[in-house]
Amino acid sequence: MDLTQRRDRLLEHEAALCAPHDSPVYVFYEDDVRDNYRTLRSALDEHYPDSTIHFAVKANYNPAILSILRDEGCHAEVYARGELAAAQTAGYDADDLLLTGMNRRPEDIERALEQGVGHFLVDNATELERLVAAARKTDVRPRVLIRCNPSMEVPTHPEVATATLETKFGLDIDSGRAMAVTEKAVAAEEIDLAGIQLHIGSQIQSAEPYGVAAREMCAFAADIRDELGVEIDVLDLGGGLPVPYDDDVPAPETIIETIATNVKDSLSEADIPLPTLFLEPGRRLVGNAGTLLARVGVIKETPYATFAVLDAGTNTVSSYWPYPIYALSDEEPTESYHLAGPLCYSGDVLAEDVSLPPLERGDTIAIDRIGAYSLGSASHTNAQPKPPIVLLRSNGDVETIRQPESVEEIIGNAQQLEDLALDDVTTEAD
Ligand SMILES: *Cc1c(COP(=O)(O)O)cnc(C)c1O
Repeated sequence: MDLTQRRDRLLEHEAALCAPHDSPVYVFYEDDVRDNYRTLRSALDEHYPDSTIHFAVKANYNPAILSILRDEGCHAEVYARGELAAAQTAGYDADDLLLTGMNRRPEDIERALEQGVGHFLVDNATELERLVAAARKTDVRPRVLIRCNPSMEVPTHPEVATATLETKFGLDIDSGRAMAVTEKAVAAEEIDLAGIQLHIGSQIQSAEPYGVAAREMCAFAADIRDELGVEIDVLDLGGGLPVPYDDDVPAPETIIETIATNVKDSLSEADIPLPTLFLEPGRRLVGNAGTLLARVGVIKETPYATFAVLDAGTNTVSSYWPYPIYALSDEEPTESYHLAGPLCYSGDVLAEDVSLPPLERGDTIAIDRIGAYSLGSASHTNAQPKPPIVLLRSNGDVETIRQPESVEEIIGNAQQLEDLALDDVTTEAD
């Protein structure tokens, strides 16, 4: 769907979407979530059928969104216990989960083992030791993936490149660290080595790094076979598939074809049977499935620009990305605005020089394709509540899938000092 079609869909359902809650509100679309999954799944069916999609739950851990993906047959990558709980709330089979994490608590690993979590990712030697100890204690045998780092430069925002030389993630291949931990995993009687994993980063703007990553990992799989005498069952190439915010980015089909070709070519050269392929897309499955609707409250001219001040700002979306922005109206964009949020810092500007129709107080602005990471990055700056979420179902119904937050919930679990507390305080929350 192009932006005009997306705007028309919002206009068609505007009354129902805006009725349940005050502005601002996140709108999600069941159809988009399902379509996104099916696009990836059918590309995999064509190019590499023995494969599983593990949705990276950190991109959106709302249980309703998770259950739509589960209903499509998607598996999930869950980072530590919070996301594990979200996936369980959404009804995922524990065997379909891949538990990742850095510095996980031993008791969380033990609980995940007892619950039957399908695969465990190991980022470092200490995590392997913890997993082995937990396996011994619970008498459950985990299937383990070793997180590798081939030190790659990838085209994306530096904050979200995760297989570089500088990163905290994974085990470096070139220095032999990845092999040393893999060897320990093979030797440990309490666990099964299932395979190897890498995640090169997020919003990767071209297909080529996936080809490089696939070849690096296949070469490492060949080294494992040569040095340790074992063949991997699972090759996990992580996520990072991009959402078209504004730039041209490769279609997911192109990336999947690139991965499949490189894996098949490299492994047939090394005479290794094809493993099951795991992918862990997050952003690509939900990024375009959500829109933030915010309302113009103030139009303010300064000597520098015309600001339209919205009731939602940088506290409601994940930063870095150039989200498409448009007004919910049929009028032509003839004006230019800086779109500011309501927060108490100068950086609270969502976008500058946005072409929009002439705005008035009360107009609704769509900040589109915010479906990935906004929920997790939304903050309570200035004790602002996070917006509620409504879902446009495939049948046209509108359902609330996250209730509005009250001010009381934001400050509620802080503790007042008893000796300074007053009895007769009333708050906005009362
Ligand atoms: C964040 C993350 C992903 C998902 O990345 P996207 O860019 O959202 O696809 C996948 N795997 C791991 C280990 C991650 O940390």
